[in-house]
Amino acid sequence: MIRENLEAVENNIKEACLRAGRERDEVTLIAVSKTKPISDLMEAYDAGIRVFGENKVQELAEKIEKMPDDIHWHMIGHLQRNKVKYIVGKVDLIHSVDNTGLAEEINKRAEKLGVVQDILIEVNIADEDTKFGLPSDQVLDFYVNTSKLPYVNVRGLMCIAPNVDDSEKNRPYFVKLRKIYVDIMNLMRHNGLVDVMSMGMTGDYQVAIEEGATMIRVGTGIFGARDYNTA
Ligand SMILES: *Cc1c(COP(=O)(O)O)cnc(C)c1O
Repeated sequence: MIRENLEAVENNIKEACLRAGRERDEVTLIAVSKTKPISDLMEAYDAGIRVFGENKVQELAEKIEKMPDDIHWHMIGHLQRNKVKYIVGKVDLIHSVDNTGLAEEINKRAEKLGVVQDILIEVNIADEDTKFGLPSDQVLDFYVNTSKLPYVNVRGLMCIAPNVDDSEKNRPYFVKLRKIYVDIMNLMRHNGLVDVMSMGMTGDYQVAIEEGATMIRVGTGIFGARDYNTA
């Protein structure tokens, strides 16, 4: 099932790229494996997947231990400062940085390890009370300040669009994130490398690709529905 799902997702990605005049390799598919057992992750791995996303620190750390070591791990979920030490240096990218204290803690841990940690700024793109992320109008200032931290590399932006029945409803939010992204690029010109827009999930990744997503985070579309009761 997972292999077939992956084929369907891959086809959808290719079609969205084609519609947008983009190359397939401009978009990284992150397989979001939260709550799923190792056997499911291995099925995706055997089908060629090497990029996985998790949203809980402990689950992520356990899966890193158990899975092959040629995997690129992404922390996509809300992150508390006191858990930072468990993942810095172990994940390629932390998608969910939305406050100065968190950015500073990541910087501190990265310095201790002698690494530079790639991060994204999470933006609360639809101003939803229920969501984490920085308000859109604070992103530029936050970017400028965070990019001064020597052991943190701000690669771009992430958003979680609203849960909608029609993915077209999220197009304006993806456009809005891209505008902020372009503003940052213009601001920085030759300083730093800003090249990541992480947006689009199972319900809306095709629209997100059409609007410029460079990373999409797909869980249900690959692994099937999640059961939070047994997880
Ligand atoms: C769970 C999760 C996803 C994947 O959601 P699906 O709708 O199952 O594709 C993507 N991004 C984040 C931040 C998540 O927590």
